[in-house]
Amino acid sequence: MVSRVIPVDPFDLVIFGGTGDLARRKILPALFRRFCAGQMQEGTRIIGAARAEMDDVDYRAFVAEALIEFNDGHGCEEGTIAAFQRILSYVTLDALGENGWADLAAKMHDGRVRAFYFSVGPSLFGALAEKLHEHGMADSDTRIVVEKPFGRDLSTAKALNRALADHFDEGQIYRIDHYLGKETVQNLMAIRFGNMLFEPLWNSQYVDHIQITVAETVGVGGRGEYYDRSGAMRDMVQNHLMQLLCLIAMEPPAKFEPDSVRDEKLKVIRALDEVLPDQIVRGQYLAEGDKPGYLDHVETTDSTTESFIALKVHISNWRWAGTPFYLRTGKRLKARSSEIAVVFKATPHSIFGPEAGRHRNILTIRLQPNEGIDLDVTIKEPGPGGMRLIDVPLDMTFTEALGPDAEDVADAYERLIMDVVRGNQTLFMRGDEVEAAWAWTDPIIAGWETRGDDPIAYESGSSGPEEALALMHRDGRKWREVRA
Ligand code: NAP
Repeated sequence: MVSRVIPVDPFDLVIFGGTGDLARRKILPALFRRFCAGQMQEGTRIIGAARAEMDDVDYRAFVAEALIEFNDGHGCEEGTIAAFQRILSYVTLDALGENGWADLAAKMHDGRVRAFYFSVGPSLFGALAEKLHEHGMADSDTRIVVEKPFGRDLSTAKALNRALADHFDEGQIYRIDHYLGKETVQNLMAIRFGNMLFEPLWNSQYVDHIQITVAETVGVGGRGEYYDRSGAMRDMVQNHLMQLLCLIAMEPPAKFEPDSVRDEKLKVIRALDEVLPDQIVRGQYLAEGDKPGYLDHVETTDSTTESFIALKVHISNWRWAGTPFYLRTGKRLKARSSEIAVVFKATPHSIFGPEAGRHRNILTIRLQPNEGIDLDVTIKEPGPGGMRLIDVPLDMTFTEALGPDAEDVADAYERLIMDVVRGNQTLFMRGDEVEAAWAWTDPIIAGWETRGDDPIAYESGSSGPEEALALMHRDGRKWREVRA
């Protein structure tokens, strides 16, 4: 299999926050890899912008260092860093002042796509939108890309949407959720809507329940101050897990086009039931050996912010009434693993008798590690001694099924940035989707704040609090093992 690269017309991309952590770790390496893949044509320009005093030469050296540190190098030959450096430049600029804006405006080319990546804190989004407008850079060819967090509740998200909408149409705003750029997440749509096999079974009549797990082994580390104001619900569930839930649960869109897909996702969010207190388990990780605990990373020693959350969620619509969705995400768990498991119901009657056991098909979509899909199928245990049944996985690890080229597929940031340039919003969140997600999230958070619920301490390296296991046990179900 050879991956096809379709070059895009020359474009200008400005990275506000071009010296920040996200730019160094994700955005610039992603751009570099697309450059190496031959997707950028002669004349494309990438302009870093931040307050730090630097000139183009300094910035090129800064970016080269970031690439050496954060790009694992696959697919890029010797000398490509130098070639990439030639398309880079830098403007010293303050989002909140006048400094630098005329310089940036003077660098813009007319008649080509220009994208502005807001890789700065959300408190600067409004000011950047305003300044782009003031300095004549907000025309119809302009696209803006905004990073998470998109608000911390419904009212802040609405305020951000309004601030951007003052100067840009919805069709120009690209709200990034990098989970949507993952190959497997898109494959989820291909599997659901490109095969006849699954869709007829994709409903409460055949699906017992669905589990979505995003487990991390890292703690909050140096992000303690930010994280403590957020917590797992705001940082992970409201955006990433919600997006996965939408793609799993939505009705088939009429077309794989931005508004068709986003309309269907929005309907799922609007059909989510209120989550009751006994359907929520929140946790906070403890110290382990010389590894600090959650409270060691944050300023308030009595912080009640959760580093783990598990929820049982219902979707009240024709397709899903009666099929629960269990979501969980947490830090310092036993393995780094993200997956969606669709657990089908057992057959209505076993012709093999009770000793054969009851078995279920499980379709697992692995986001990381080992992106791929497997389907547990029940077969006869080989050998004599009667009909005993066992479950075996039909495993499709992409790198095995598709050959080594599968390793070279664009990562989430590469794909999403090039989608911005191509003007394809299918994998970006629309403003009303984000607001609907907060409208569901806010009362859940307000509920535990009003009740004064404390998170439950859990061991680092575990699967989270025991109570999260009980959330499923009492329904006669169990979580899948968190394993790498
Ligand atoms: P960061 O490391 O603190 O970088 C912030 C950038 O903004 C720096 O380049 C900074 O440079 C620039 N900046 C700050 N104030 C400015 C101003 N007034 N005018 C112009 N530039 C200004 O932050 P980050 O981690 O890169 O995060 C950027 C955004 O991405 C945030 O919204 C964050 O929540 C989001 N995000 C980050 C990650 C991640 O892994 N880092 C992941 C997901 C989302 P100067 O100080 O020189 O101006």
